[in-house]
Amino acid sequence: MTVRVAISQGPVIMKWRTFITLLAVASLTSCLDDLGTNTQDSLNPSVDDELGEEYEPYQAGRGKANGLQGVGEALKFSEACESGETLTIAAVGDVLLHSRLQKQAFREDTSFTSLWWGVSDLLKTADVTYANLEGPTAKGTDARGRDVMDPGPIFDDYVYTSYPMFNYHPSLLDSLQEAGVDVVSTANNHSLDRRSLGVDRTISELQSRSLQFTGTRKKGADDPWFAITDTNGFRLAWLACTYSTNSIPDNHDQVLRCYEHRDKVLAEVRALSAREDIDVVVVTPHWGVEYRATPNKKEIDLAHELLEAGATLVLGGHPHVNQPWEKYTTTDGREGFVIYSLGNFVSGQRHLARRSTILLYVSLVRNDLGETNVAGATYVPLHMTNSGDGSMSVEAIDRAGGNGDSREFTVGMFGLWNLSLPRIPVETTAYCEGGWELAHPLDGWVGGSCTAEANVCGTAACAEDFPGGMCTIPCERVCPDKAGRAGTFCVAGPTADTGICVPKCESDDGCRPGYTCAQQEHNGEPGVNAMVCVAR
Ligand SMILES: [Zn+2]
Repeated sequence: MTVRVAISQGPVIMKWRTFITLLAVASLTSCLDDLGTNTQDSLNPSVDDELGEEYEPYQAGRGKANGLQGVGEALKFSEACESGETLTIAAVGDVLLHSRLQKQAFREDTSFTSLWWGVSDLLKTADVTYANLEGPTAKGTDARGRDVMDPGPIFDDYVYTSYPMFNYHPSLLDSLQEAGVDVVSTANNHSLDRRSLGVDRTISELQSRSLQFTGTRKKGADDPWFAITDTNGFRLAWLACTYSTNSIPDNHDQVLRCYEHRDKVLAEVRALSAREDIDVVVVTPHWGVEYRATPNKKEIDLAHELLEAGATLVLGGHPHVNQPWEKYTTTDGREGFVIYSLGNFVSGQRHLARRSTILLYVSLVRNDLGETNVAGATYVPLHMTNSGDGSMSVEAIDRAGGNGDSREFTVGMFGLWNLSLPRIPVETTAYCEGGWELAHPLDGWVGGSCTAEANVCGTAACAEDFPGGMCTIPCERVCPDKAGRAGTFCVAGPTADTGICVPKCESDDGCRPGYTCAQQEHNGEPGVNAMVCVAR
């Protein structure tokens, strides 16, 4: 049963079951103080199963977002075009493995790599790669944190489980490392899904692989909450915290909390940023409201406080959908970068907003004074796709094609200016080079420009006799709408024996430079016309 509930300006459709849960949460959270601080955060259960359709689109002005830029605007940093040593960071959101994804990993030895094989090269190519490990990787541990027999690499739904309490086989960590992941957050609302023992065992698995982690520590240990990555002469300190551990008590102080330990988190950021041997502090808070694209004042305030305290990057997560990014200039003039939610990286969630996400690239540059600042940020639209055999895999839309609705959704939030094609090497400040043009909505796939760049047409062909080259596919009557930008239409081709697919348009604005929007007749169907982009 589905009910339609009006929340704020937009109607939101949600499953009845979720509605009941939200009602329960609403009654728990009735004690908001005057500042809007939710004093009951730790009691909020998360609703991060595979089902559910609720999604609240971004609402400008909500959450009193002082300084938060409008979605889709250009994001540019003042040191973008400075010369100097650079470092590129790749960041993805939640590794949240519902049962079908865990089963897929163990089926015929596909391993967890099958979930992201299509983007592994894009993760690996960065100097440092980050993901949020949303759940323990604790062998032989049940949901009550007891030592039990380990079943090995199978989804037994007892040791290795899905929603509401996750636990993954530690071979997941090998697959993440194979994809180039260097550092993970272990502080999130699922940190204690295998209780204290699960935290300890997860940390042992991470340590045995030298996979850096941040935000949790072993029972009784006084180890630092942060991790340090040391790559290409850049030392970055990473610090994770979480808003909650889903009501599971943290009896041994093993998980760093963003709000309850706010002073500790800020003090840590101050201490790390003051260290001579650390170039940049990156904070990865697990926060926000699930399925809502707008950050709250609470997250925005903390993000800005973290930057004021000395952090350079704040990479948030938890809502399972993307939330916007922003450039924030601190009172002492440093330019910080925040993304409020990276969304899911891989999950079994089905709703468009939850399977549409990004691979974020942020580059740093070291200037003449030895200071390291943000140079640029770009993103590659990703989509969690079902393949024909029932398996799921995250793909870069501009390479895999299709899923135009997902691409449009993501580009709607992050804009065209900072869009990056999935290519190596990564360029985060391409606009510093002469001749750079804003990515046209039709770049790549049918209608896209292709003489300047190799391999942008995917499986389409580059017709070089069009201005700038045009990606086309031959047709007799029907054109597939490859990446779902403007629809495509089959017109007569340069040779009589085949038609070609070209993009539809409404006006010249919808066509690349050198093209005009004009009426053309359908190939092989006299009298059927459409407005399409044709060479001037
Ligand atoms: Zn979460």
